[in-house]
Amino acid sequence: MNRENVILTELKGGGYRLTQARKAIIQVLCEARAPLGAPDIIVLMASIGTSVNKTTVYRELEFLKGQGLVAEVLVGDGLRRYELMPEGHHHHHLVCNECSAVECVEVESCVGEDVRQIDHIEKTSDFKVTDHSLKFFGLCARCRL
Ligand SMILES: [Zn+2]
Ligand SMILES: [Zn+2]
Ligand SMILES: [Zn+2]
Repeated sequence: MNRENVILTELKGGGYRLTQARKAIIQVLCEARAPLGAPDIIVLMASIGTSVNKTTVYRELEFLKGQGLVAEVLVGDGLRRYELMPEGHHHHHLVCNECSAVECVEVESCVGEDVRQIDHIEKTSDFKVTDHSLKFFGLCARCRL
């Protein structure tokens, strides 16, 4: 079963309604190769035959976030982007300084996953770390042409 079907089955099992909009947004997020902003999501949903307004998209995103299925990606340009909650490989984001394009990149090891480092941070700062995010800034392939 692919991720899309797993999610749909899970929601159905939880007693949630699978409206056309809900199914379409899940399909769009499952097919996305990078985090998407709401305007992109609306365009992509329309391209698969489901026209929705901003309110509906945000309501669905909030719902999916509440279900732990979608994560918000903030890169500092003020646009909220969304992606399926990553599973398996740990990943971070690449952000283009020119066009603000965001890409996902898998990493093999990460300071944020290193128990000794986290331990050190918590001890020296008296802060309980629950998550981290790491962004690499630079130029995407298109902007280097
Ligand atoms: Zn770029
Ligand atoms: Zn990502
Ligand atoms: Zn990390």
